[in-house]
Amino acid sequence: MVDVLVIGGGMAGVSIAYELAAHASVTLLEAEPELAMHTTGRSAAIYAPSYGPPTVRELTTASGPLFGDGILTPHHSLWLALDDDGVDHLRDIPADPITPQRAVELCPVLRTPLAAALDTSAMDIDVMALHAHYVRGLKKRGGVTHKNTRVTEMRRDGDGWVVNGIRTDTVVDAAGAWADEVAELAGVPTVGLQPMRRTIALARADADPAWPLVAEVADTFYFRPESGHLLISPGDETPSVPCDAKPDEQDVAIALERVNAATTLNLRSVHTAWAGLRTFVPDREPVVGAWPDHPGFVFFAGQGGYGIQMAPALARTGADIVLGRTPPSPIMSPRRKHG
Ligand SMILES: Cc1cc2nc3c(=O)[nH]c(=O)nc-3n(C[C@H](O)[C@H](O)[C@H](O)COP(=O)(O)OP(=O)(O)OC[C@H]3O[C@@H](n4cnc5c(N)ncnc54)[C@H](O)[C@@H]3O)c2cc1C
Repeated sequence: MVDVLVIGGGMAGVSIAYELAAHASVTLLEAEPELAMHTTGRSAAIYAPSYGPPTVRELTTASGPLFGDGILTPHHSLWLALDDDGVDHLRDIPADPITPQRAVELCPVLRTPLAAALDTSAMDIDVMALHAHYVRGLKKRGGVTHKNTRVTEMRRDGDGWVVNGIRTDTVVDAAGAWADEVAELAGVPTVGLQPMRRTIALARADADPAWPLVAEVADTFYFRPESGHLLISPGDETPSVPCDAKPDEQDVAIALERVNAATTLNLRSVHTAWAGLRTFVPDREPVVGAWPDHPGFVFFAGQGGYGIQMAPALARTGADIVLGRTPPSPIMSPRRKHG
């Protein structure tokens, strides 16, 4: 018997399990032989308070001081507008407008953009160190983690649940792309999650580590220096079923083409490529809470493309909701998003 059973050992699961373990007995179940094998292990590791919808930005800003020593390294984000729509869009981004010439000074391989803005609060995140911090802390607080344990069976038992034979008062569904499938297993209404594949490649290039992260404002590509290579993405969002996502050659080719069009780099090939699933509900805000008719089954899902940068504040908010406290930050309760 445990107070809380968390399903999923990505950033969402381990962070909320850690926060809850300060107040309750917690067991975490992960389907794979290792934690963080899916989306969490595949991110671009960027912390940018100017990125994402309003609640995400707020949670990201609130997370800044909570990351702990050595997790964040300052690395500015440069937003580019390349057409008139982009110029309009740039006005909505909470970053400091700079001249196109200044943008080229910051990243000399850029062709001059129409407009630009700089987020000087952006950082690189050591994702695996953050994940390991939560796993260690969970263990220290008496929490238990079982890998290789896919949840396949869940039923109501009085006020609580029985999950793979474990009795618990509360289930936290942090199963990422699979969170709606887990809800179906529990007989709980889904929240309309849509996994979207995103591709990243490491291109062979002489990338100066001093260059900022450079991102087109409508998310049609981004690039940044990464261990002697250039990390590039076409900003793809291809709807997918929950799965072990693989990169598509076509998406890698689009990334090369778009980065080449915006720079003088003339990239030709990539060293490696990978893909992961960013999982959203339609408004792109995270989903935290239980349906009124299904207490004790708490969604902690829909982290989309921001689940690392907002993890510390979102985990505290989620734990507050599970524990029945008033959360300090704005949060989203699950609502019927479709149908
Ligand atoms: C290419 C890419 C770039 C990104 N870049 C950034 C970035 O720069 N900054 C940022 O903040 N975010 C970024 N993100 C988003 C971020 O990675 C995600 O929001 C975050 O990792 C989601 O974590 P999660 O724990 O919800 O999902 P996951 O890491 O996928 O974890 C879910 C876990 O649940 C497990 N599971 C599923 N079903 C079951 C079951 N039935 N039983 C037991 N376990 C189960 C899975 O095996 C998995 O380990 C990026 C994502 C991608 C794909």
